Amino acid sequence: MVAGTNSSMGEAPAFLVDDLHGEQLNGFDLKNEASKTATVIGDKKYVIGGADDETAFIEVQIFDHNLGEWVNPTVLGNKPLSCKGHSSVLLNNDRILIIKKGSKPDDSTWFLEVETPYVRQQRKVMGTEVVAWSKGVIGNAEKPIVISGPSGVGKGTLISMLMKEFPSMFGFSVSHTTRAPRGMEKDGVHYHFTEKSVMEKEIRDGKFLEFASVHGNLYGTSVEAVEQVADAGKRCILDIDVQGARSVRASSLEAIFIFICPPSMEELEKRLRDRGTETEEQILKRLRNAKAEIEQGKSSGIFDFILYNDNLEECYENLKKLLGLNGHVAAPTKPAREVNLPMDHSVSKIDDKIIINSISPGPEKESKNLIILDVSSLKGGAPGRTRGLNFHAIHSFSDGLSGMDRLSC
Ligand code: ADP
Ligand code: 5GP
Repeated sequence: MVAGTNSSMGEAPAFLVDDLHGEQLNGFDLKNEASKTATVIGDKKYVIGGADDETAFIEVQIFDHNLGEWVNPTVLGNKPLSCKGHSSVLLNNDRILIIKKGSKPDDSTWFLEVETPYVRQQRKVMGTEVVAWSKGVIGNAEKPIVISGPSGVGKGTLISMLMKEFPSMFGFSVSHTTRAPRGMEKDGVHYHFTEKSVMEKEIRDGKFLEFASVHGNLYGTSVEAVEQVADAGKRCILDIDVQGARSVRASSLEAIFIFICPPSMEELEKRLRDRGTETEEQILKRLRNAKAEIEQGKSSGIFDFILYNDNLEECYENLKKLLGLNGHVAAPTKPAREVNLPMDHSVSKIDDKIIINSISPGPEKESKNLIILDVSSLKGGAPGRTRGLNFHAIHSFSDGLSGMDRLSC
């Protein structure tokens, strides 16, 4: 049996699985109850778990007390694989924290969002009941950098210089596009080159943070593209157009927005022609679009910084300055320490701390393991990861000695 928080802590309770029996007669298959938890929020009971097979995903079903029936919600986001059991804790009345038992450290903590702004928005768009999974990640990622500017201004050149000088610090968000690859471009490195119908379906499935039609083709940043860079402990750089920057500005992704301006339209045209990657027709289209992009870039209020790329070296120095990189010696990133969550544990919640409690028998003395999960500064969430988790492990032995390990900061 799995435990939940109790109602005396000021939050709606996460009930024990036994509480489900009342609804069994309504036709919902309650096999495998031991691996399920139920959490009540208002008139709804969220039942999580239940699949036998550890290659299947954790299931979610909702009992709506108003309707008196079970509802199968649309489940968004990458789903967690099933496990031998889990604990669930309600946070802020809008998301349920799931702690998987006996799973690998990087797969142990998940959030089922049930009433966050993202879920409410998706519910409105889809017209169905919606919940969304978001994987929990230890520590924080630095704010991504969004770089926009007209085609040919030098965005790619500046980004390459930054990534070459600071390879362990920055990672590029690989966009999807329906345009054809240029000579040297590699699929999965410069872009994910995609069929229009496939990309449109993935947009409908909510896989994109932003997308736009640019110069007659579809371009978009997938949630996964940004999260993968952050997972690698790097700061993400996005090269996207002004429409995309506007969408990211409106999203939950906190970023720094930089617009790159050409010194003149004549110079922009020269760079585009000298690059020699577009047909005459495409060059003219890009130049026509550049005028509107530059106007929007300067006046829309989207961008935090505007940089003029006249002399390349000077522009690069200014870019480094505004990112605080002048004189910076790149230090190797220190990976967050991992914590193994015990197979058998109970969970309780005090304010913003989740207390995970287990006892392991030792050869001489029994040791009590307390892991404290600090959820006071969560960042992000569906459709991406939930970052900012902070674990501390406390080991105490039957002889009264105890030690504390700070596992991340
Ligand atoms: P974008 O990614 O913005 O489309 P690129 O980085 O591909 O633009 O640059 C377009 C062309 O302009 C490239 O051939 C590049 O070498 C050249 N370039 C970039 N910055 C400068 C600059 N400051 N002065 C002269 N040429 C430049
Ligand atoms: P290109 O075809 O020259 O690689 O890119 C054309 C334009 O598309 C550039 O302005 C570039 O910033 C923009 N772009 C590239 N990837 C994305 C993306 O993922 N989203 C959006 N909105 N624009 C993109």
